[in-house]
Amino acid sequence: MNTLAALLPAVPPVIGWAVHARWLYGRLTTARRDPLTGLWTRDAFAHRARHLVRDPRATVVLADIDHFKQINDTHGHAAGDALLATVAARLAHGTTPGGVAGRLGGDEFAAVVIDRDGTVADQLDTLTRVLARPVDTAPEVHTTVSLGWVRAADHPGEDLSALLRRADEAMYVAKRSGRSGPRRARLGRLLGSVAGRRPGRRGAA
Ligand code: GH3
Ligand code: MG
Repeated sequence: MNTLAALLPAVPPVIGWAVHARWLYGRLTTARRDPLTGLWTRDAFAHRARHLVRDPRATVVLADIDHFKQINDTHGHAAGDALLATVAARLAHGTTPGGVAGRLGGDEFAAVVIDRDGTVADQLDTLTRVLARPVDTAPEVHTTVSLGWVRAADHPGEDLSALLRRADEAMYVAKRSGRSGPRRARLGRLLGSVAGRRPGRRGAA
């Protein structure tokens, strides 16, 4: 009883410290989020993705909006912001559960998708379709989003940087082919143009 009485004065400072620590944690987490899109910033994404890509079920995805600068120039910065936020939300949704998505900077995004039940091909197809939906927030904006991806299992031992580089190369293949392809002609739509290694196949899709 005496011990309890002796400890009582320490309770308020301990509670105060716990509240402060919780507040600090919240602030630090917020700082790791991109304020426009709510996605993880580059460093915070890398911190999480680095662990995830050790899982052979991981697929690293890179996404870049085509001609984004032109959208800013034509429709204004606010329309560009709305497009970035829409792409980010769709990407984040497409990488759950178990994955992670981040904004690497500008109009470039990255994600890691975990193939929990052997359906990563379906997941990526769904993501592509979702990115292809019209953008409600900016109906006058039309562009494409180029995607590239790589499976960690196809490159055992490679770290996040190496896998991101491969996904980046695949994304640029998609960007180059998408620009001259028929998809470019579709107006009023945000399209996903797709490249990268499809699961179970070798070479570009
Ligand atoms: P590419 O088709 O080759 O992908 O080129 P792009 O025009 O999409 O990309 P580029 O790298 O030439 O330009 C990206 C632009 O994104 C330049 C920059 O002004 C703009 N930008 C970067 N961050 C933001 C942002 O937070 N909001 C808006 N609205 N624009 C941004
Ligand atoms: Mg771009």
